[in-house]
Amino acid sequence: MKRLLFLLLLLPACGDAYNSPGPRPDGIDKYLASFKADAAKYGRDFHPDDFTYSTVKSFDADKKNLFFRTAARCVDLAHIEFNKTIWDAKSHLLRELYVYHELGHCFLHREHKNSLDSIMIADVERLNESYKANRTKLVKELFTGN
Ligand SMILES: [Zn+2]
Repeated sequence: MKRLLFLLLLLPACGDAYNSPGPRPDGIDKYLASFKADAAKYGRDFHPDDFTYSTVKSFDADKKNLFFRTAARCVDLAHIEFNKTIWDAKSHLLRELYVYHELGHCFLHREHKNSLDSIMIADVERLNESYKANRTKLVKELFTGN
């Protein structure tokens, strides 16, 4: 019994940090549901539970690099990791953009596109001003590539 307890205590230290189950980010389910509904419009069957979601306190201290000031990232096409501090500070609109962008990587296997007409633009926050007015067009581009 003592030995079993010892092994159980060791378990959390063994896994890949990205895959260790952390808390899901607050409010993520409505964005996953909305992505599922949009995916269905373009004939894609998205199941939120095919992916895992977790929060971390910080990606890195280097704030100059886009990668480290982003609110989320897709890991191994299977997991979306959220920077809790940054995510919690984002508006509803930006949260949706981040979830859609990361699922663009993880679910649609899309790469970055250097265009303000695409949710797959590397710095998704550049769409902050135009997203509301162009949402339909941007969501179509995400699922169809044009
Ligand atoms: Zn990206």
